[in-house]
Amino acid sequence: MGSDLTVANAARVSYAKESAELSERDIRLIKFLAKEGHTSPFRHAIAQFEIYAPLMVARQWWKYIVGSAHQEGTGDSLDAWNESSRRYVTEEPTFYIPQADEWRSAPENSKQGSGDPIETERGKYFNYNLRKYIQQGEHLYDLALESGICAEQARLFLPAYGMYVRWYWTASLQSVAHFLAQRLEHDAQVEIQAYAKAILTLIEPRFPVAIGELIPKKEDE
Ligand SMILES: Cc1cc2nc3c(=O)[nH]c(=O)nc-3n(C[C@H](O)[C@H](O)[C@H](O)COP(=O)(O)OP(=O)(O)OC[C@H]3O[C@@H](n4cnc5c(N)ncnc54)[C@H](O)[C@@H]3O)c2cc1C
Repeated sequence: MGSDLTVANAARVSYAKESAELSERDIRLIKFLAKEGHTSPFRHAIAQFEIYAPLMVARQWWKYIVGSAHQEGTGDSLDAWNESSRRYVTEEPTFYIPQADEWRSAPENSKQGSGDPIETERGKYFNYNLRKYIQQGEHLYDLALESGICAEQARLFLPAYGMYVRWYWTASLQSVAHFLAQRLEHDAQVEIQAYAKAILTLIEPRFPVAIGELIPKKEDE
């Protein structure tokens, strides 16, 4: 909801002014607002995404609380969240399994989440074991359901961190920019970095000036 013009007009209302179309002056104004940290005009524009991600990524995403709602449907509240929780039998469980060449070593610096990729041969071993572990979990889950155990308890058998969940994220432009500023960084987990890149690709065309200022491109991009 909204555009770069929304940001400019939200600021211009202080002078009882409004632009019908984004002008060079509006662009300069947005740049000024971003540079000086006048954040409130950026909160009048809202974006909504449907996200499908492993629970480990969702857990990190859900920490963005201010100016964000994680919800199903299109409610207007910015203080609630919902996701497909598996209390009810809904979608088939789907799991994130890294490819054999995607397993990363423990980091040398403890502040970093992971280090260099490990050799593919060793990756194959972990890939195989993870698949086996998930299959066993799914088997026990199905068994529990077939035996009449309720879904909200049967789900205890599903390996949770890699299980995909689906939710709606509705957030102010400022909140989206805050998420991007943190999760595009190299110290964010690689998996959430990939989602942050996707969010950037989706939001940039809608708010090119504001995003360009709030999330400046790095030299190497
Ligand atoms: C690399 C990395 C590693 C992390 N590791 C961990 C971890 O190990 N464990 C963990 O629990 N979390 C971790 N986090 C999450 C982190 O602690 C934040 O919860 C998350 O990044 C969301 O940011 P936030 O709190 O600024 O967002 P929001 O809650 O959306 O807040 C947005 C902004 O609003 C302002 N704000 C928020 N609350 C108030 C308030 N009460 N008064 C005034 N201003 C306020 C602040 O400026 C804040 O930055 C990590 C995050 C990153 C990026």
